[in-house]
Amino acid sequence: MSTSTPPTPASSLKPASIQTQPEEVHRLFSVYLKERGLRQTAERFAILDEIYAEAGHFDADELFIRLKEKRIRVSRATVYNTLELLLDCDLVVKHQFGKAQAKYERAYAYWQHDHLICVDCGEVLEFCDPRLHRIKETLAEIFQFAITHHALHMYGHCQREACPNRDKADAEA
Ligand SMILES: [Zn+2]
Ligand SMILES: [Zn+2]
Repeated sequence: MSTSTPPTPASSLKPASIQTQPEEVHRLFSVYLKERGLRQTAERFAILDEIYAEAGHFDADELFIRLKEKRIRVSRATVYNTLELLLDCDLVVKHQFGKAQAKYERAYAYWQHDHLICVDCGEVLEFCDPRLHRIKETLAEIFQFAITHHALHMYGHCQREACPNRDKADAEA
């Protein structure tokens, strides 16, 4: 790998294996539920499918609304409960972007990426920078530390003209 590879916006690179994932994530979730003696309900798998149907970040209520719009009947409690299970088996990751409600994101087979967060409009951009991998390797060696995961959030002001929370006076000028 070249040492000068620039960071890549993650959204511009879609994983090619997206079609083959539903069965694999079903299998992993099914094994997880079985091992814990939990019921493999249709609702739990419907929630999993909805999470994997779309890229991006969502909170528990947004997911509940998405399911409702698709006429998938699940209770809010089931959504919350299933998210906790999916977090526990690493099929979903949870992010705390600033003070906003915690956001979730599908995790299986989606590559590691980090986030830029606009403090005005809450827009979250994703990027992948291979240099972080080398930083991790160096840290692991210096501190004799087995790094399992990391979170890197960059906060600031997006420069989009349409950033909705920017000063109204600014936007109308
Ligand atoms: Zn913004
Ligand atoms: Zn993300």
